[in-house]
Amino acid sequence: MKIKEDIKAVEKEIIEWRRALHKIPEVGLELPKTAEYVAKQLDEMGIEFKEGVGGYGIVGLIEGKKDGKTIALRADMDALAIEEETGLPFASGNGNMHACGHDAHTAMLLGAARVLQENREKLNGNIKLIFQPAEEGPGGAKPMIEEGAMENPTVDAVLGLHIGSISKDIKNGVVGISYGNLMACLDRFLITVKGEGCHGAYPELGKDPVAMTGQLITALQTIVSRNIKATEPAVLTIGSLNGGRAYNIIPDTVSIEGTVRATNQEVRELIARRIEEITSSICKGMGGDYELEYTFGYPPLVNDKDFTEEFVKTVESIVSKEEIIELSTPVMGGEDMAYFLQEVPGTFFFLGSAKSVNGEFYPHHNAKFDLDESVFWKGAALLAQGAIDWLDKE
Ligand code: MN
Repeated sequence: MKIKEDIKAVEKEIIEWRRALHKIPEVGLELPKTAEYVAKQLDEMGIEFKEGVGGYGIVGLIEGKKDGKTIALRADMDALAIEEETGLPFASGNGNMHACGHDAHTAMLLGAARVLQENREKLNGNIKLIFQPAEEGPGGAKPMIEEGAMENPTVDAVLGLHIGSISKDIKNGVVGISYGNLMACLDRFLITVKGEGCHGAYPELGKDPVAMTGQLITALQTIVSRNIKATEPAVLTIGSLNGGRAYNIIPDTVSIEGTVRATNQEVRELIARRIEEITSSICKGMGGDYELEYTFGYPPLVNDKDFTEEFVKTVESIVSKEEIIELSTPVMGGEDMAYFLQEVPGTFFFLGSAKSVNGEFYPHHNAKFDLDESVFWKGAALLAQGAIDWLDKE
């Protein structure tokens, strides 16, 4: 099989699919037009697929050798509620925007699918194609897994990628590899600090939740600095603080909302527990009370070391050695690919595709974010060849 050449032969289509998807961005779980577009392409390729898996998710199946194993290739399809300002000829006009490159993920997976389907008789097993909604929230991987995306046939490994400039170390066209903990969890907490309101001139008559909150903000920052090993990545950010309506009134409650990021499950659980302990002791110690809502969102994304070592051999067969880098540090953003990687071993890799617009560079989730389309073939080739090589080895 000459996968690299086959993929290059469909490069034009990959770019066309990406542009078509870029024009019709949809957000979250509701992706009717996007899913319809993907379904249409799979149909034309003669690939069997199931629609409506966990909402608008699509699961395609390319069947190879009967008693072989199954590897899943995963792409997210959702966009963001951002008004596009790129001025590109295929820019979106519907108020949403593919400002994270998921249009390219979908197009690259379609490219890989087409070539794999053409070579299906030579495959040493099956390839599942997972097109998921809602990566940017509220999450599309989990509902798809719950609705059987990883069954019939049972998936044994998973491979996926993110394009763009997620990590600054990855230059254009370069493949970023991680052998372990690559991305952080994405948790949210909401603390309601409960006091007792009263006149601002007579604080002794109430229980001041603002004073409690002041202590709490400082104390919560000691979790990362005092409870967690200095070499362990962790973030606790308070992003929203609400309480009180007038300068001379002590309110009943104050709310503190924030996010926790950690790349290790144990660290994540430790932070959640310490938030509760510190909140409880400060609020109760100052005569008040509290309510804590801790939402465990996407888990940390952890690549499988053995799978990744094998995958790097694939990468070396597609790109030059200079175009491969190992990421020295994890990324503190979250990714719901993590749910698939919790189920089976696999890897999630980065493909550098930073494009400047009029000399300016715009990051992910920016209204002027754009991608260098000339690297798309690499992503598609790595998915296809990665799947083939893994099936051959198993
Ligand atoms: Mn993304």
